[in-house]
Amino acid sequence: MSDCCTGGICSEKTYLTFRRRDGTPWVPMYVQEVDPAKCIGCGKCVAVCLGGCYEMVEIKGDKKARVVNPGNCMGDCHCHKVCPVEGGAMTCRPVELG
Ligand code: SF4
Ligand code: SF4
Repeated sequence: MSDCCTGGICSEKTYLTFRRRDGTPWVPMYVQEVDPAKCIGCGKCVAVCLGGCYEMVEIKGDKKARVVNPGNCMGDCHCHKVCPVEGGAMTCRPVELG
């Protein structure tokens, strides 16, 4: 299980899983979308995302993050870890197998 974004994990299902160097399991969580009602427009997700998955847009005069390249997501959860909104303004999900 990953260090964050664990809300989507169900113990009865099987997910795409990798292992860290120390052998512990890690489930990548891939970004889906940003909830503009939760996003406070800090831009931290844009700054940390190595995949260029986000961009900042203006919605009704407010800055908001938006997912523009979800296919580039590596599932590392860096964006979720830096998002100051409790629980994260973005939704990230694991890949379910079977
Ligand atoms: S999980 Fe990583 S690659 Fe995917 S959107 Fe977040 S920071 Fe970018
Ligand atoms: S880190 Fe969170 S609050 Fe900040 S811009 Fe990204 S989604 Fe919005």
